[in-house]
This record gives sequence, C-alpha cells and structure tokens, in this order.
Amino acid sequence: MSENRDYYEVLGVDRDADARTIKRAFLKKARTVHPDVSDDPEAEAKFKELNEAYSVLSDEQKRANYDRYGTADGPGGSGYVDINDIFGGMGMDDLFSSFFGGGAGGGAHSRRERRRGRDMAISLSVTLEEAALGCKKTISYDRLAPCEDCNGTGRAEGAQEKQCSRCHGTGYVTTVQRSFLGQVQSSSPCPDCHGEGTVIDHPCETCDGQGRTPSHEKIDIDIPAGVSTGRQLRVSGFGEAGLRGEPSGDLIVSVRVADHERFKRNGDDLYLVSDISIAQAALGCEIEVEGIMPDEVVKVTVPAGAQYGDTVSVNNYGMPCIGGGGSRGRLIVQLRVVVPTNLSNTQRELLRAFADDTGDDVASGKKSVTDRIKSALDDILD
Ligand SMILES: [Zn+2]
Ligand SMILES: [Zn+2]
Repeated sequence: MSENRDYYEVLGVDRDADARTIKRAFLKKARTVHPDVSDDPEAEAKFKELNEAYSVLSDEQKRANYDRYGTADGPGGSGYVDINDIFGGMGMDDLFSSFFGGGAGGGAHSRRERRRGRDMAISLSVTLEEAALGCKKTISYDRLAPCEDCNGTGRAEGAQEKQCSRCHGTGYVTTVQRSFLGQVQSSSPCPDCHGEGTVIDHPCETCDGQGRTPSHEKIDIDIPAGVSTGRQLRVSGFGEAGLRGEPSGDLIVSVRVADHERFKRNGDDLYLVSDISIAQAALGCEIEVEGIMPDEVVKVTVPAGAQYGDTVSVNNYGMPCIGGGGSRGRLIVQLRVVVPTNLSNTQRELLRAFADDTGDDVASGKKSVTDRIKSALDDILD
C-alpha cells in the first residue's frame, strides 16, 4: 500500500463532498475493510488508513488544514490524535464490534441493558492552579452518537419495526439437545434480530439499522474549584448512544491533577518548603510566600527558635474545599534553615563572638590561603 494516500481517495469521495457524504462513505467502507469481516491480509492496515482519513475529513478544522497544507495539523500543529485514544479508552475493536451488533458476552445481559448505550470513560488532566480556581475545559472525543439521518431509530423513511418472527419478540431462541443426562435446554440470542426481539424491514442506510454512528464530539466541562485527582464528573447522556433510540450512556470524566513543582497536596492542605537564615530562625521573622491563587502573597510568621524541618501553618490558604462555601484548607510551610557557607570577615568575627559567648568550641581562626583570598575579595565586594 502506498504511503500517504490522498484521504479523499481513501474514502472515495470528491474534494467538495459534504460531511454527510463523507460519513456515509466511511461507514460503507468500514463495513467491508474491518479486520473482523474482511479476509484481506492487509485489512488492518486498510482499516487504519480509512480511520485516519475519516478522522481528518470529519473534523472541520483538520479538514481545512488538510486541504490547505496537506496535513491535518496545519502549520505548527501538535500531531495526530491516536484513533485508539480518542475513543475514550474504548478500543476501536470494542467500538466496532458494538457497532456491527456483534461482540462477545451479549447473551449474559438483559435485552434492556444491551440496548442502552454504554458509559464511556475519559481522563482529563488539570494543573494545580486550575484545580484551585476551577476552570472550563473542552473535551473532544469520539463516540457512537444517535444517527442524524434516522434520528436514532435505525429505520429508513417509512420503514416498520416488526416483531421478530423467529424468536416471537423474546430475543432468544431455545434449543433442546439430547445428552446422556437427558434433555438439555439452552437459550442463545436470536440470530435474526441479534437479541433485539424486533427487526426493521428497511434499515437506515447510514447506520445500518443500528440508530447510531461514529461521531466527533466537543463538549465543555466545568471543573469545580478544589477538584482532586480521582474525582469523577459524570456528563449524562454523552456516552455511547443506545441502539435504535434507546438512552445514551454517560460520559465519565476522571480528573487528574498534575504534580506541582512547589506545592504538595494532602486533601485540602498544601505543603510548601521555604528557606530561612539561621538568624531568622533564631530571632523569629515574618516571611512572604507565593500562594496557589493568582498574585496571592501569604505572610507567614516564623517564631523565634524555629528549627530545621519545623512547620508553620496558615489557615485558609490551602485548596478550596468542595462544597465548603469558599473555605480553604491550610497552607503548611516547612522551614529549611540554611547555614551560610560564604562568610565575610565581619560575619565570621560576629559568629566567633557568638561562639565565645555561648562557650562553643569552634575551629581556630586560621584559614587556608584560598579562604583568606576569598574572604578578602568578599570584603571588597561588600
Ligand atoms: Zn429474533
Ligand atoms: Zn440511521
């Protein structure tokens, strides 16, 4: 197969084909080249190529870029979305087996469960700042959406949905087998109606009577302030569409809050490490640290005699508590007392006097030649 075939050629449509024509062409081809139904050894590659062509030409922006620049990204784009990613964790194989009405395990579910669309899961990453403030995020993903041509009914115009004559509307057929144990009865989904209990005399061409078709969706999600990793937001009705007009499943958005370079989080509390000098630690001080909210400055009072590793907490400067009416967790500042390394002569003398006063035994005042040059330079620079 040639590399980089023209997407229009892949789908077999004109360059000015409208969205509906493109969708129809994709669905028609997908039914013949899908690896589950095709014997062609290149079926998988062809299916992939078809998906790629469709994912670009079905997206207005990508298609415009493709027409203009020959690539879906346009100038300086960020690359293709992997088709397996955009189906929200549901692999293409699952998607297509459900789309073709096949798939494993169908018999274990009740008819009603089978017809309702499945929930879909998608994960969404936000920064700690976004989590603190709350934000709006646009999610784009693909799903089986109600077919626009038949309004999800699966019926062509004027078509009738009739009770399946093979299973008399039960969706199951019962077979009786003789064995050494006697007669064994087993039931399995009806092959004529795939367990639906009804058949359509003229199925909608676009969706092949399923009432749903692959569709690219973009929705805005409100991320509440204070959200934390693992929180799931349920967007009702935005999962997989049900069969023939049955209710859609939900879209479940799992939020992940990215790690932050300065803050660590524990529940609604935020942790931060701040350096202070030995003088600040010994005498006490007030320091200012940057909070998580935009332009937020937090004053932190360090008590005299603070030790390395001590923590000072400030109420109401942590993460917002969800449903807490504007209250916030604590900001907990861990103090790191820094021992100075490049003392000037004056500082050295002062510290020596301090050691004399406390009776501390310290190293003699003799310094190496390099130390002496260094401190002489420091004094000049002071
Ligand atoms: Zn049947
Ligand atoms: Zn349809």
